[in-house]
Amino acid sequence: MSFKRNPSVIVIGAGMTGILMAKKLKDAGIEKVIVLEKKEKVGGTWRENTYPGVACDIPSHMYTYSFEPNPNWSNFFARGNEIQEYFENVVDKYELRPMIRFNETVTEAKFDNGVWKVTTSTGDNYECDFVISATGILHHPSLPDIPGLDSFEGNMFHTSNWNHDVQLDATQSVGIVGTGSTAAQCIPELINSGAKVNVFQRTPQWILPLKDFSIPNFVKRLLGRFPTLNRISRASGKFFVEHFFTKAVTGHKIQRFLMEFFVKLNLKLAIKDPELRRKLRPDYQVGCKRLIINTTFYKAIQKDNAALITEGIDHIEPKGVVTKDGKLHELDTLVLSTGFDPLAYMRPMNLIGKDNTHINDAWAENVGVYRSMLIPKFPNFFLTLGPNTPIGNFSVIAMSEVQCDYLLKLISQWRSGKFDAVEPTNIAVENFNAYVKNGLDATAWVGGCTSWYLDAHGNPILWPYTWGRWVKEMRIPNDEDLQFASYSQQ
Ligand code: NAP
Repeated sequence: MSFKRNPSVIVIGAGMTGILMAKKLKDAGIEKVIVLEKKEKVGGTWRENTYPGVACDIPSHMYTYSFEPNPNWSNFFARGNEIQEYFENVVDKYELRPMIRFNETVTEAKFDNGVWKVTTSTGDNYECDFVISATGILHHPSLPDIPGLDSFEGNMFHTSNWNHDVQLDATQSVGIVGTGSTAAQCIPELINSGAKVNVFQRTPQWILPLKDFSIPNFVKRLLGRFPTLNRISRASGKFFVEHFFTKAVTGHKIQRFLMEFFVKLNLKLAIKDPELRRKLRPDYQVGCKRLIINTTFYKAIQKDNAALITEGIDHIEPKGVVTKDGKLHELDTLVLSTGFDPLAYMRPMNLIGKDNTHINDAWAENVGVYRSMLIPKFPNFFLTLGPNTPIGNFSVIAMSEVQCDYLLKLISQWRSGKFDAVEPTNIAVENFNAYVKNGLDATAWVGGCTSWYLDAHGNPILWPYTWGRWVKEMRIPNDEDLQFASYSQQ
């Protein structure tokens, strides 16, 4: 297909989504693409998260780009370093590295009369027609607001910024705050190091025991030799996650019943001591918080060098953590597994749209985005993995692929001269938000817990319907919801 013109595009971030965008834009024959990456390597979350036990908790063969299956995953759940290696290989195989400028953080992007002007930490300035934000969702560590946190004299770090110089052995006493998906992977490794581990749990979590296993070499060879087998493995993982997990949390009764049955049975069978079991039993609906997939946490927490502390943290002192019962838990190291700010997206970058509108003002009340991707007053700016993407227990790669295809359709319309700038109408955003909110009551997220799945006003940050419905609705951009502008005549 021939087009009248070709755009210049800046992609922010060379993580999973940024790499995908670079590849797909290149495939579409768009040559003026620059990927600005704040660090010295690609990989995003997999570059940042190197905590012990880091792994993907959805099946590995599902966690690949559709165009680049990987027959060589070592395990059913791939390890973090392998996933990092996978992304590095994709970048080299498709010759994307020349498109990436490393160590350049975007400090500002400003829409000026049809053109995006982008400034980076190195003082460089760029101009382009489109900006794609591929900064990921969970990348700004959330530090707990605990009195005295800064007074701690031992080693202290967030899981996403692991200090590998810290010794972990039987001479050490380690505390970890948090029991989310990250902590569930990390805590067993800490306990297995022999260190005395105090787990400070505020809220217990439901855990589904899907066992990891190493993939035998003959299976890897078969998957490599017969790509169809690899596709089947990918499709069956997707089918299971879509028709079991996703449906269980979005109000489908049979799936919800089965999931509740398995996680409750898991707790009952895995934890011998009734008192420990009581402490580990959540009082909210299964799936309300992100379901944890794990078979090592329950085993590890019952070991002699582990303690589950549920009294609640009162404050932190130079020597350790003081719980509400007045007890000081002396520690050499304190690990903060306290999650991320889910609403930061591309911020703290200065994003300035039409009429000098700053993103912080546009989002002062709530994060208003149309179909997770388009923001009123920010024409030709595409947010990826934005609010109401069907994140949760599903492959984010599959989500980014759907969003990439959607934005490429809009960019194609630009190339054929249909418009110079596109943004959603305010009413489309309002309708979309209302539509999403409507689905909330059927989900497990309102099942009696707090989680990053809902914002401060109780609006869902995730997509509350099925995966299939989302894919269908993302197929074609709807002209009625968009407003188009022309700048070339001005
Ligand atoms: P998280 O799920 O947000 O968990 C944060 C934990 O810290 C919770 O247990 C929370 O307790 C606790 N916490 C926060 N502030 C606290 C405070 N002031 N005092 C005591 N406890 C406090 O964070 P995460 O485990 O890093 O996971 C975040 C997301 O990353 C996941 O939902 C998932 O999407 C992604 N992830 C994915 C994988 C994967 O394999 N695909 C692996 C890890 C993470 P409350 O529950 O009481 O708030």
